[in-house]
Amino acid sequence: MSGARSSRPPSLASPEALLARAAPGPRDPRPGISGLTPVSLGAWLRDRAAPAYRARQLSDYAWTGSATSFAAMRTLPAGLRLELEAHFRADTLVETDVRLADGGLTEKALHMLDDGTLVESVLMRYPARVGRRERNTVCISSQAGCAVGCPFCATGELGFGRDLETAEIVDQVRYWQRHMAPTGGHVTNIVFMGMGEPLLNMERVVAAAAALTDPARFGLGARHLTISTSGVVPGITALTALRPRYTLAISLHAARAALRDVLVPLNRRYPVGDVVEAASAYGEVTGRRVSYEVVMIAGINDTDQDAAEMARLLRGRLAHVNLMPMNPVAHTPWQPSPPQRVAAFAAALEAVGIATTIRRSRGTEIGAACGQLAAEQAGAPSPAAVADRRERLERASAAAVIGSGA
Ligand code: SAH
Ligand code: SF4
Repeated sequence: MSGARSSRPPSLASPEALLARAAPGPRDPRPGISGLTPVSLGAWLRDRAAPAYRARQLSDYAWTGSATSFAAMRTLPAGLRLELEAHFRADTLVETDVRLADGGLTEKALHMLDDGTLVESVLMRYPARVGRRERNTVCISSQAGCAVGCPFCATGELGFGRDLETAEIVDQVRYWQRHMAPTGGHVTNIVFMGMGEPLLNMERVVAAAAALTDPARFGLGARHLTISTSGVVPGITALTALRPRYTLAISLHAARAALRDVLVPLNRRYPVGDVVEAASAYGEVTGRRVSYEVVMIAGINDTDQDAAEMARLLRGRLAHVNLMPMNPVAHTPWQPSPPQRVAAFAAALEAVGIATTIRRSRGTEIGAACGQLAAEQAGAPSPAAVADRRERLERASAAAVIGSGA
């Protein structure tokens, strides 16, 4: 927690904080230090006639140290610390509330930003196994809320809040690195699977990914960073042009257009065929296998026919499918697919040579699916609004569903 401002926003649990979230307050004009490129930080220091080695010191503080305020950066001269404080924020996360699940293997953070906006990030620890080193995956948010509005997603239900700044994205990772440092742990994987649609906040997400994979900054291997998208085709194409080595994940959920229109409303703008073509081009240019994510919803997208359509769509492509039973969220009429349905779906994909993994949902009891914690803080919508939403979803999905074996 940093205390850069004199008037701190109210604590997360207070009603004032919730009000602030609904109508975010004024923004702190000072950019977060972690969002600066080494070139602009170097230029800023040169303008103040600071010796070149200050850049290295500051960078060490930002990327490997435990300091969350400039005041704590003791090896910098006092005058420079004050100058930094006047121009930048050492940490853009004002306050963080952490909850544990999975016997401590999953930790979920709700971060409050300077204007009272709430965003989430999650740490998932995978202890070392025979032949496999320990992994610590951090799932981060790119936006507060999301405009895409997938009906099984708690973030989608919140609607769009705002884009996160580069530093606000990066600081979620710095938070978990500091959190693990005392026990010698490291962030080994980063996934953009928290709140928001990364490719609708493209510029900041690309800058954050660059900072996180720059050996002179956070230094994660590019292939250990995954960008997940609901299918923003121009964003996928723009990302391909940058030729990064990141892993691309496509939230597919359905191969049939009629059903995907319901589950991922962006499908009406960017149809699934175009999404898969753009993703395949990314795979070819980067040499990286594309991940396709499918949230399995009982009786909705888990039928034999849906599996067959997906097999047809992905067959022969550089693809890896992840099937995950839906994390039950409030205000939908839907339930997760039963394990035998998920297994049958996986078998149908594997039968045509598509690599498929069944994932267990981590941290269900703390609402680890996208946006659930923030949705909880936002309060429940009125019973009438919930009933109306369920009815609309039931109607829309009934029209798009094909019965198993039909
Ligand atoms: N907006 C981007 C990235 C964030 S969502 C995208 O959609 O890809 C990250 C992942 O969480 C997506 O694959 C999404 O499908 C999944 N997700 C959302 N709600 C879920 C739920 N209720 N159960 C399981 N996974 C969920
Ligand atoms: Fe947005 Fe992703 Fe949630 Fe869909 S699943 S509403 S794209 S965050």
